[in-house]
Amino acid sequence: MNAFNPHYLPFECLQCGKELHGRRDKKYCNDTCRNAGNRKRVRSETWYEPLFVAQINTILKRNYKILKTEVIRHSGPTSVGRFYLVDKNFSFKYYTSILTTSSGTYHFIYDHGWRELDDGKIMVVMNPKQAEL
Ligand SMILES: [Zn+2]
Repeated sequence: MNAFNPHYLPFECLQCGKELHGRRDKKYCNDTCRNAGNRKRVRSETWYEPLFVAQINTILKRNYKILKTEVIRHSGPTSVGRFYLVDKNFSFKYYTSILTTSSGTYHFIYDHGWRELDDGKIMVVMNPKQAEL
């Protein structure tokens, strides 16, 4: 390029930063930089969290708040009707861990969990061990 042209602005390789000359739509100085740049772009695109991660986290937090509220209200483990929880938008699909005991399987969201009782009611409990890493 003509260094005396007042409109001339140098531009750089997006990968290595080397000054480029010639066509303004050039992005990389050579094929090695182009390949490295494309690989980096694909990597950063796959890194982004899909929308459902935030949506499921919201459901988990809502579930957690519902269970915790029941345990606090009853000052300990309690049993509630399934539709009572469904009415509060509780989702039985999402939880963070499972605990199998001789009395049955508990689904936990952090340190609060539930177990389905034989009469269809839902037992709500708290167990700090379930939130230990
Ligand atoms: Zn380069």
